[in-house]
Amino acid sequence: MKSGIHPDYVESKVTCSCGESFTTRATVPELRVEICSKCHPFYSGKQKLVDAGGRVERFQKKYGKQALADNRAKAKIKKESKKEPEEREKA
Ligand SMILES: [Zn+2]
Repeated sequence: MKSGIHPDYVESKVTCSCGESFTTRATVPELRVEICSKCHPFYSGKQKLVDAGGRVERFQKKYGKQALADNRAKAKIKKESKKEPEEREKA
């Protein structure tokens, strides 16, 4: 190894946002991660939403089950209100 060009390879403590922590070796003494093998859905088998800036919430609001039901209800009301004038003319 050429001297003076390689970074220090030190013990590094990795901390995950789920609370899990373990030590490994890296060029920095401390690492903070958002997801690890203890909480990643692939390993945990549970669904976890990794949210950045409320994007999931906004999506659910716009396209979630409840939002779609609301939109259908609104469309139905709109259709019915469009029908009414015709029916009145016939009567
Ligand atoms: Zn984790």
